[in-house]
Amino acid sequence: MSQTPGTATTAPVDPSTSRDSPDLARMLGTIAAEMASAGGFRVSAVSLFRASDELEFVVVDGDDDAAADLTGDITPTPVAMTMLERAERWGPLRFLPHHEAVELLDHIWVGSAEGDGADAHPDAWQPCDLLMAPLTDAEGALQGIVWVDLPHDGRRPGPEQRRRLAEHAERANRAMVQALEHERLREQVRLADAARRVVRTATADLDLARLVQTTIDSVCDGFAVDEVRVHLLAEEDVADLDELSLQSRLLAERCWRDQQVAIVSHRRAAPALLSAEEHAVLLDGLHEQGDASLLLTPLGAGPECVGRLLMFRHDRADWSDEEASAALDIGHDLGRAVLNARSFEREQQAAAYRQQLIATMAHELKNPLAAVGGYLDMLEMFLAEEPGTGTQVQRSLRGIGRATRRLDDIVADLLTLARFDEAADPASLEPHDLGALLHDVVDGLAVQADARGIRVQVHLPSQQALVDADPSDLERLVVNLVSNAVKYSHDGGEVDVHLEAAPPTVVLRVVDRGIGIDPAEKQRLFEEFYRSADPAAASQPGTGLGLAIVHRVVHHLGGRIDVESAPGEGSVFTVTLPGSRV
Ligand code: ADP
Repeated sequence: MSQTPGTATTAPVDPSTSRDSPDLARMLGTIAAEMASAGGFRVSAVSLFRASDELEFVVVDGDDDAAADLTGDITPTPVAMTMLERAERWGPLRFLPHHEAVELLDHIWVGSAEGDGADAHPDAWQPCDLLMAPLTDAEGALQGIVWVDLPHDGRRPGPEQRRRLAEHAERANRAMVQALEHERLREQVRLADAARRVVRTATADLDLARLVQTTIDSVCDGFAVDEVRVHLLAEEDVADLDELSLQSRLLAERCWRDQQVAIVSHRRAAPALLSAEEHAVLLDGLHEQGDASLLLTPLGAGPECVGRLLMFRHDRADWSDEEASAALDIGHDLGRAVLNARSFEREQQAAAYRQQLIATMAHELKNPLAAVGGYLDMLEMFLAEEPGTGTQVQRSLRGIGRATRRLDDIVADLLTLARFDEAADPASLEPHDLGALLHDVVDGLAVQADARGIRVQVHLPSQQALVDADPSDLERLVVNLVSNAVKYSHDGGEVDVHLEAAPPTVVLRVVDRGIGIDPAEKQRLFEEFYRSADPAAASQPGTGLGLAIVHRVVHHLGGRIDVESAPGEGSVFTVTLPGSRV
């Protein structure tokens, strides 16, 4: 069997292990055969109501031709009802004589046994004679029919035979209804289990391929099918589809609109959703694959049909109501899961794109900025040698210098952000003294702090506080925390930076007594581009990247970060990092 492009997986199943129904059919067959032989008949058959209320022959015994002709055959419900209504009542049995039955010839098996119809005896068994026993459940609802045919003596049964047949029919009815009920319960448990497995994966797994595979496995286990396929509309190229796939795609969309499954088989009338030609195309496709029937379930969510689940049976055309409704449930669960997985995939692509954009921008900005910085240095040198340069020019130069450093900072943040995707490999990192770095950073921020009368004090441990890290990452971490503390302090405020070497960890604590943070905002502080809505915070320049970078660096190095803060009182950011292994 060929696999259609843009399609997920097929799974052939070993019928001997996964099917319960043949056992049931065998059991029903035995009961019917006993009844037939007790009444002197050679052939017996049982037909049952299956999904969509049609009567299907599930077992035929006593004649190979009859078995070949009838097994899987469907008797439309109105025809079966007519047969039962017109028949003579023989206790629990119904007898429809040849002359009444003959107009229903299309739906009647006529045996080719010798002597059929040739016997002139008034009680001779006629070719279209029908002898049936309706199977009813405890509430009297019709479940199916047991049929007997071809009497050994070639005669319609006399009173004694009828009595024996009637006795057996009643016993057979009880046994069969019990067996059917048992089978139905087993099936419900099995199907519920399959559906549960699909739901569990559907809610937990966002990987589309895995999701589809689990569904196929669960359906194979739970439903007695020979092959299962899942087709997702978005992954199919319509131009590549064969006739069967095209037609089933169309049918799935109609099924989703009407919220139903469709059963396609030679034995059965076309689903109402199909034209005769469309049905013929599907039947040809089935025939080519060697399958007897297909249960098609649309996959969807809301108004959108996203694909179809196809279940094939090689030699059975019947699908139970339980199977049909369990399949429809799976169609809903899988449909929703497919949409979830897709939107997750899209989010990931968007995140990757954003990451790429940040990296490109940062690299593109880096070089011209370095050039601006270089020219600025040169200009300062020239002017220093040039006597009489006006204060206005010097102030402008200092302004350009500050703006350039600020841009440098932003670009450094972006570059750091772009680099973090995976956890650090500690072996590739060198030990660096956080204390020395802290001094440099605080020196670098002195101009900014002094301008607003803010005093920054550094409290270092007596020994080195070594951390295995990329020095530029450590610098971004410290710059962002300390510059935030300064930025969000009140003019004339105080910032304390404590460093402790507490083997096996190193702890950095940045304390300010500034504007503080609203508890409702704490959750979001570390998100990229998040900036507070508080006007006092929003009036400060910023990108919303600083803490996102701090968080990434800390995470990258296998550490943790904690925030304690109260609005109007100030904030404490505590970073705990693993100390160097060296
Ligand atoms: P920004 O560039 O806006 O400073 P950050 O990512 O560094 O971006 O910080 C995110 C937000 O967290 C800031 O907009 C600010 O509201 C708040 N924040 C960070 N540090 C402090 C602090 N020390 N005191 C008060 N608020 C702070």
